[in-house]
Amino acid sequence: MSEMSKPVIKVENVHKSYGKVEALNGISLSIEKGMVLGLLGPNGAGKTTLIKILTTLIRPDKGSVQINGIDLQKDPDKVRSMIGLTGQYAAVDEYLTGKENLEMIGRLYRLSSKDVHNRVDELLERFDLVKAGKRPVKTYSGGMRRRIDLAMSLIASPPVLFLDEPTTGLDPRSRLTLWEVIKDLAATNVTVLLTTQYMDEADHLSDQIVVIDQGKVIEEGTPAELKSRIGSENIELIISEKSSFSKASKAVKFKNAYFDAKRRSIRVPTTDGADDLKKVLQSFEGANVKVESLSLDRPTLDDVFLSITGHETIKNNNHGNNHDVDNNNKNNNNGKNNGKK
Ligand code: ATP
Repeated sequence: MSEMSKPVIKVENVHKSYGKVEALNGISLSIEKGMVLGLLGPNGAGKTTLIKILTTLIRPDKGSVQINGIDLQKDPDKVRSMIGLTGQYAAVDEYLTGKENLEMIGRLYRLSSKDVHNRVDELLERFDLVKAGKRPVKTYSGGMRRRIDLAMSLIASPPVLFLDEPTTGLDPRSRLTLWEVIKDLAATNVTVLLTTQYMDEADHLSDQIVVIDQGKVIEEGTPAELKSRIGSENIELIISEKSSFSKASKAVKFKNAYFDAKRRSIRVPTTDGADDLKKVLQSFEGANVKVESLSLDRPTLDDVFLSITGHETIKNNNHGNNHDVDNNNKNNNNGKNNGKK
């Protein structure tokens, strides 16, 4: 393997249990320099546990992790000097100004006064916080807090950055600003591991996606690969009446069909849209099923997530806020691909 393609983050067969709960059950993944890896999974999948291990906050029970070639268990201090972490909740001192927060972190990293001064100015500028930097953080909006938190994790210019749901709760404009910052970081060869529950965010930012569930990798690939694996299009039908939904569900024989009783929706991933649409409609013949609407869409990462985990994504799904899906009818190909290509 050439020096260039050596992974910056290498996780091999990592296990972690909390008492009887197996949070991680043999996770392996790797990320190359300057890549953004999107780590996805339903609630309780083990994402936070993995991030905690990778950022040395907790130790794995089994397995190995290397960051930039350093064994995390043998030399956690060295690993700490190479990483930055931005969590969901901004870890800032509310009573200090933004600038003071940054200076404090710079001193904790033992940067020289000159370096602290230069780096703080540069980061305030980059995150559009020059003016706000003079105010106590307790006066900041959610978006400003997130920006100062991210700026703090960058003070020592870490080559590896962990972003745990960096834009949760932000308004669309602040999210876009952070997306730009994250893309710029990757363009300057910072390696990023990102968790998010926004599928559009994962799609937009990630070079590679790893989906975990119940502590295991169940799928991985580029966003485009994942989407193409579940079919190039989706047929969606909304059935007119609740009473005919179960008749309609029984009539549709497609293996990958996904049924959402609450929305009276049937979705069928397809590579042959028009023909399959005809087949679905034919299957309703004689069943007295009325269709309220039908559409043919290209799949999103939401569809990928749904298809491989059987869970709706939590936020920003394109299909309303309904998570009450009919699990008997979910497509259940968990583990089939098992991330191996
Ligand atoms: P979410 O998206 O909800 O944040 P997650 O993917 O980050 O979920 P984890 O927080 O890593 O998942 O949790 C993985 C499993 O481990 C869950 O079953 C969780 O209940 C359990 N778990 C996590 N932390 C602890 C703990 N400190 N003690 C006991 N069980 C825990």
